[in-house]
Amino acid sequence: MKYPVLITNRAKLANNIKIIQKLCADNGVSFCAVTKVFCAAPKITRVYYDAGVREFADTRIANLKKINYQGVTRWLLRLPMLCEVETAVKYSDVSLNSEIATVKALNKAAIKLGKTHKVILMVDVGDLREGVLPRDALAVAGEILKFPNIELYGLGVNYNCFGGVIPTHESMSIVTNLAYEIKNKYGANIKVISGGNSGSMHFLTARTMPKEVNYLRIGEVILLGRETSYQQHIDGLHEDVFRLHAQIIELKKKPSVPVGELGLNAFGEKPVFVDRGDILRAVIAVGRQDVDMNKIAPLDHKAEILGQSSDHTIVDVTHSDTKYKVGDILSFSVSYGSLLSLSTSKYVRKVYE
Ligand SMILES: *Cc1c(COP(=O)(O)O)cnc(C)c1O
Repeated sequence: MKYPVLITNRAKLANNIKIIQKLCADNGVSFCAVTKVFCAAPKITRVYYDAGVREFADTRIANLKKINYQGVTRWLLRLPMLCEVETAVKYSDVSLNSEIATVKALNKAAIKLGKTHKVILMVDVGDLREGVLPRDALAVAGEILKFPNIELYGLGVNYNCFGGVIPTHESMSIVTNLAYEIKNKYGANIKVISGGNSGSMHFLTARTMPKEVNYLRIGEVILLGRETSYQQHIDGLHEDVFRLHAQIIELKKKPSVPVGELGLNAFGEKPVFVDRGDILRAVIAVGRQDVDMNKIAPLDHKAEILGQSSDHTIVDVTHSDTKYKVGDILSFSVSYGSLLSLSTSKYVRKVYE
């Protein structure tokens, strides 16, 4: 085996997909599988496809291009850039939008490519990332309905991202009411109301999802086993689909406080050290450019990560029950942020078991 390596357990992933599929189906909700956090790696999207998932979503067109199974619908989750509207229409069937200028450009691209492109109008109900404000939404919907090669397919809300806002019935009612207003004013049927992401799971487990909300965009809960509003485990889900393994390249007893006058570390920060006397320090070959140490946790609960430079992570293994030696492997659980950076780091091998 070569290290560092991010291992994906596909059987555990398949189990998680099945459970979320059932939870959604039992609540009358469809979903797209969000693939951005693992860069839409084909070995992983295949597991979703084999489980019956036919709708995929990513924030990057480069990732959507890789999802080319028969009969799938692709969602572009990040608002398209004006410089990518043609590739957006080419490689996605649906995109999230909040700017008329962009929808206009998408329409032009769709005419050129002889397609109809579906648009989800994002409404910002408080998380303050993307979306039109509720008071502007009805007018913007009216504008979108005028474009011949654009279908106003649905309304969407996003939570738990920039502001960390937790979805509620009250904020969701803003969009469900808007769908009725669009119907009344323009006679247009809104097919999809997309009520968020892995942070909306508590509505499904409590069976309280507003009946109008028929769609979610789901990434993290399937991959990491927890919903993201309250960090609750969901019955039956594995939390260890992904594991990071890195190799020890130095193991020595050394002081716990650096020797000499202290300036800044490699990242221009001034670290603080606690004097614990001499400690057994394992240096492992994975660094800050691959993963932020605060977003991984050693599976050896008696090991403690002390710090990082670009290519090294220092772990205190003084109290470990394992007697490590050079060449041994330290293993870590991952979180959303670490899975993302490990997936994008070309220095980290990806293995699928
Ligand atoms: C990333 C993303 C999601 C998925 O969020 P999870 O918390 O991983 O389920 C949903 N919607 C949008 C717009 C996103 O960018």
